[in-house]
Amino acid sequence: MRLRNVPGSREAIAEHPLCILEENPQAGNWHTVFGNNHPIHIEVGMGKGQFITTLAQQNPEINYIGIEKYSSVLIRALEKTDALETLPENLRFVRMDAENICNMFAEHEVDRIYLNFSDPWPKDRHAKRRLTSRQFLERYHNILKEEGRVIFKTDNRPLFDFSLEEVKEAGWTLEKSTFDLHHSEYVEGNIMTEYEEKFVAKGNPICMLQIFLQEDK
Ligand code: SAM
Repeated sequence: MRLRNVPGSREAIAEHPLCILEENPQAGNWHTVFGNNHPIHIEVGMGKGQFITTLAQQNPEINYIGIEKYSSVLIRALEKTDALETLPENLRFVRMDAENICNMFAEHEVDRIYLNFSDPWPKDRHAKRRLTSRQFLERYHNILKEEGRVIFKTDNRPLFDFSLEEVKEAGWTLEKSTFDLHHSEYVEGNIMTEYEEKFVAKGNPICMLQIFLQEDK
């Protein structure tokens, strides 16, 4: 995603009632933030927030947290939620690099992690920056509940193939996988992201996988 600095975005984020600052980590405290014990689903690299905002509106019994690295992108998600009649009570946003995600969530605090159209980082030397690398899977393992799931969508076949390899290497179980989500049994209930709409309009097939890590007993 090409980024332009959006003047005032840092300040707007700092003041927004749905935003949690990285400097104020809520690890172990999310149920207090939301005022309930509902499950926590997060999207890492949420971009302009269409996916997570739609899910939050559809599922008031689930708490959603969108994580985005750049203020200039997160501000677009805030503009969208501000345009709604009421702010969804079950939605929060965090501006942070997901490399530090274990500071923001306690062990086993999260029920589900969505990764949508993550940056491919095509150079081999950048592989560990990919959000489905074994390094990131290890972080997700830390914060996910035992029954927790990671769900990943992309139109980028090399990134998807890499992800399948990493999943295997890291010992996760592949529960669902398709190279063409929109012509598969898994399409029912699928919520499109901004990038997904663009790629589907171009005719690109969308790959999807769902994984979990079985603890050794
Ligand atoms: N998920 C959205 C969608 O499908 O429309 C946006 C996809 S966009 C290609 C990837 C997004 O992930 C960008 O907004 C980028 O800033 C964000 N991102 C990439 N690496 C990240 C990281 N390490 N931590 C947090 N966000 C990240």
